[in-house]
Amino acid sequence: MSTGASESIESHYVEVALPVPLRKLFTYDVPAKLRGSLKPGSRVAVPFSRRKLAGFVVAGREELPEGVSRALPVAGLLESEPVFSPELLRFLGRAAKYYMHPLGEVLRAAAPALPSGAMRRLREDGFLEATENLPGQRVAHHRTWKLTATGKDASAARLGARQRRLMDQFAGRDSILLEELRGEVSDPRAVARSLAEKGFLEVQEVEAIRDPFFRIPVTRDEPHPPTAAQRLAIGALVEALEKRSGQAFLLHGVTGSGKTEVYLRAIDQVRNSGRGAILLVPEIALTPQLVGRFRARFGDDIAVLHSALTARQREDAWQALRKGRVQVAIGARSALFAPVADLGLIVVDEEHDPSFKQDEGFRYHARDMALLRARDAGAICVLGSATPSVETYHRANHGLLGLLSLPSRATGATMPDVQIVDLRRHRVGPTGHPLISGPLFAALGRCLDQGHQAIVFLNRRGFAPSLRCESCGLVAECPACSVALTEHRGQGALRCHYCDFQRAIAIPCTACQGTEYKRLGVGTEQLQKAVEESFPDACVARLDRDTASGDGVEQVLDRLRSGEIDVLVGTQMVTKGHDIAGVTLVGVALADQSLAFPDFRASERTFQLLAQVAGRAGRADSPGEVVLQTFQPDHPAVRLAAQHDYESFYAEEIGARQEVGYPPFARLVSVRVHAGAEDEARRASQALADTARSHQSVQDGAVQVLGPAPAPLVRLRGRYHYRLLLKSPERKLLRNVTAHLAARIEAGLAPAHATLDIDPL
Ligand code: ADP
Ligand code: ZN
Repeated sequence: MSTGASESIESHYVEVALPVPLRKLFTYDVPAKLRGSLKPGSRVAVPFSRRKLAGFVVAGREELPEGVSRALPVAGLLESEPVFSPELLRFLGRAAKYYMHPLGEVLRAAAPALPSGAMRRLREDGFLEATENLPGQRVAHHRTWKLTATGKDASAARLGARQRRLMDQFAGRDSILLEELRGEVSDPRAVARSLAEKGFLEVQEVEAIRDPFFRIPVTRDEPHPPTAAQRLAIGALVEALEKRSGQAFLLHGVTGSGKTEVYLRAIDQVRNSGRGAILLVPEIALTPQLVGRFRARFGDDIAVLHSALTARQREDAWQALRKGRVQVAIGARSALFAPVADLGLIVVDEEHDPSFKQDEGFRYHARDMALLRARDAGAICVLGSATPSVETYHRANHGLLGLLSLPSRATGATMPDVQIVDLRRHRVGPTGHPLISGPLFAALGRCLDQGHQAIVFLNRRGFAPSLRCESCGLVAECPACSVALTEHRGQGALRCHYCDFQRAIAIPCTACQGTEYKRLGVGTEQLQKAVEESFPDACVARLDRDTASGDGVEQVLDRLRSGEIDVLVGTQMVTKGHDIAGVTLVGVALADQSLAFPDFRASERTFQLLAQVAGRAGRADSPGEVVLQTFQPDHPAVRLAAQHDYESFYAEEIGARQEVGYPPFARLVSVRVHAGAEDEARRASQALADTARSHQSVQDGAVQVLGPAPAPLVRLRGRYHYRLLLKSPERKLLRNVTAHLAARIEAGLAPAHATLDIDPL
């Protein structure tokens, strides 16, 4: 289990993984100038069908493969150090095998982007031109001043007002970056210089990283003494860590039960033993608060991997993790590939969240791969959730995961009371809005009267999902995708939620030139308006993908935390782990939307959403209240979420899955075919179905082939999509049939394309 450095390759040839849709390695000659400089995991430039491609060295070899008489030489080494450690390279090899995806594409997906222009900077000798003097390399960094108090007592000194104000900023800390003074002290540079001359400060020029997660300084926290349940969980994790057992656990705890505290303790233990840890979260942009808790416990020596990082920042983080200078990486699903040295622990928070599934290119599930990477590296893996996925809970019940439970809230607060409002009986509410029923109106009124805050959740952004022409009945659709456009009244536009196509609302119907539209369904924008009109004195804000770009999320949450916002309306963005004390009421405007999805997981997904959103209420000392509006009050997902009864929901759901043979009782592979014309897509998917059906295991009935059928969105981004589903309780046989299809796909289906999705969501 070496996690150490890679060894130089001394052989004549190397095998290189290239980002091309072929599941094979390519052999290249190692020219004399590069001999001894290549290592497994090195990124190299190689000639490939009259182009130059960046690929990754996998291994050395002495002989050419059989039947090959000549190999082209490696053109150059693109980075002085290998991108992947032996541990990571081995893990990614296994992941590529599991998903039957070309290794080169897997490695490219896992590696930080190649610095722009690197291919062009290759010199004759096969090495890169020095980068130090290249313009544009350091844009993300800037020079700033770090001010450190010398300790000389300033209290009795004669200082100007601005100088005094600056010195006051040192209360409770030793050093400050110049830009942190912005808004506090005018012309801070001049003031700092004068204080330095008087001997109160030392000024040091430093490189500052602009990173939204590190902008606000945090103060260190002291851990709470653990509850009894936390102590058991922490004890089990610490023991597994010390034994390096490679065990995996499910940490099942209701919202607010102190799961994060357990992660912090386990990671602390890992750090103290000199090893590293990864924390995966569903959406890093939504978790500044969580990152703040980690910084408060561990200081700023953590790497937060998020999409706003520049190439340079990402490279810095990558280096720091690889060298072990920074031991903790936090990020969304791709942080699974963080090059943490001597990996001891991977935590997957909210493991049930569908965002852990990558749905393009290399389609992996970060939770499943976290289990694989951890086991391979001798690390332990912790999957945490209040509402575990059915698959995960099933595994825990069968002893494949250790089950750790936190059955009640850490602060002693009780779970909120949930009132179900049957919308079939409550038509239009007292203020004329169908979304604000009498009971919700009353609850909001009480909440606001008491000076508390509320969240109202609706699983759909926009104003109204769609517009139907009054005269011909046509629903306005996206010209590139087979979906209805969503009205966004704030922008006066109709938008496609798949490809972001936009058009003005105020244009005549494309079919009959009619100009009168009827609104179908509801979205968050309309809900916001309904709340505003029902409670004209309340401050109502909205949080969804439209309002929350960049810093938007944090700003809205800050305003909620500070008490400025009375009612926050939003999509599932409001359901993620925000712990806001003043929120005592949660309204669910319409629980039914996610039930309508044509997917065997619709019920599970609905239960998760409702249970998570209900968990937002009453986290501090005021008891919480939830009002849940629905047309299906008797649906198990709705009824049991209202009772906070995960076990009963699981029992119900697992029975249904067993009856129809869906995961975890069978495995699935989805084959996705797309083409520029519909009949091409249909023909290619039919050919693949025929290929699959010719396989012995399908003829035996051990593997089922369903389809081909048009995908739920036949037309997406201007292309036509068809699907084929393979299903079997026997993993091995299913893999055989899949491999058979993969070979057929690699042979080419032009003009159609096909991709495999193993364990689709
Ligand atoms: P979860 O991650 O399960 O939602 P958190 O770890 O965020 O739960 O904890 C919920 C709240 O309880 C937080 O405010 C946290 O500070 C507090 N908390 C956690 N553990 C304890 C404890 N042992 N004693 C008191 N409060 C705790
Ligand atoms: Zn579209």
